[in-house]
Amino acid sequence: MSKIKIIRESSVYIVGRQVIDDGELDRFLADHGVSWESDSVIAAEVLTETAGRICYMSFAKPRPGGNAAYLGHIKESGHGSVLEHAVWNLVFTGVSRSLTHELVRHRAGMGFSQLSQRYVDESVAEYVEPDVIATDPELHAIWLEAIGNVHRAYVDLATKLVPKVRARFIEDYRLGDGSCYSDGLLERVADSSKTEIRKAARQAARSVLPNATETKIFVTMNARAARHFLEQRGSRHAEPEIRKLANKLFELMQIEAPNLFGDYTQTPLPDGTFEINTPCRKI
Ligand SMILES: Cc1cc2nc3c(=O)[nH]c(=O)nc-3n(C[C@H](O)[C@H](O)[C@H](O)COP(=O)(O)OP(=O)(O)OC[C@H]3O[C@@H](n4cnc5c(N)ncnc54)[C@H](O)[C@@H]3O)c2cc1C
Repeated sequence: MSKIKIIRESSVYIVGRQVIDDGELDRFLADHGVSWESDSVIAAEVLTETAGRICYMSFAKPRPGGNAAYLGHIKESGHGSVLEHAVWNLVFTGVSRSLTHELVRHRAGMGFSQLSQRYVDESVAEYVEPDVIATDPELHAIWLEAIGNVHRAYVDLATKLVPKVRARFIEDYRLGDGSCYSDGLLERVADSSKTEIRKAARQAARSVLPNATETKIFVTMNARAARHFLEQRGSRHAEPEIRKLANKLFELMQIEAPNLFGDYTQTPLPDGTFEINTPCRKI
């Protein structure tokens, strides 16, 4: 049986971001008799400023302060729809299923693709241990024993389910359009459907997997949705694992697009995590 790997830190990867087609943007401006260039070189910032300026066609005489002042005003005035034009592709790994259950509640402006427990063999699964348990030897021992038991049960079920699912698969085939097949041919049909049979075994066995099971999720989010996520999940009331993830994401986004995320501050909390705050909430 594979060894249990304990995860205590998540990872955030920014795997995609936008690019501007300068030629097309200049063509649009020229077609409307204006020439304009943002002082930001960050696509997300330039595109959101462009989107905002389209609303009033305010390219000709921009107010002083450049992109930072422009987006600052957008945030203060709550003109949040403009921020939906900035988009990032992210991968979160080393997170628990309970975290992703909370993450996927964010419906607006987010897209998700998550590791399948039906296709992927969780006998090689890793488990995310909450900090408050990991730092207490007694609690850690209880947690580890529980995870070990459930992990063994999962592997046992997944293994024992395969021949049962296979037998049912053959029987269903025989009762279906395979009634004229010989037993040998039915066995060969089952052999060629190993992936389906394993999937059916895993989907039943996974019912015992805990919230702590490690998962990976590809998330696409726009700046407005990202800000709402940071505010809700960076709150002192949020669960610590997702609050830590929100802080990791914030630290990357602050570098990625300072004019879109630079208004946030991090305030230390007693458990060593940080609360994320801004005067421009829920734009
Ligand atoms: C600390 C904390 C504790 C929580 N506890 C629980 C809990 O005990 N049980 C539970 O079920 N959930 C809980 N949640 C989840 C919470 O209820 C939300 O589902 C989640 O935070 C996503 O928020 P949202 O709906 O604002 O975000 P999104 O779905 O991303 O929506 C963003 C915004 O778009 C608008 N919007 C989206 N969909 C609609 C719609 N259908 N109609 C109108 N407006 C819409 C709203 O203004 C919304 O705020 C908790 C969240 C937090 C942060």
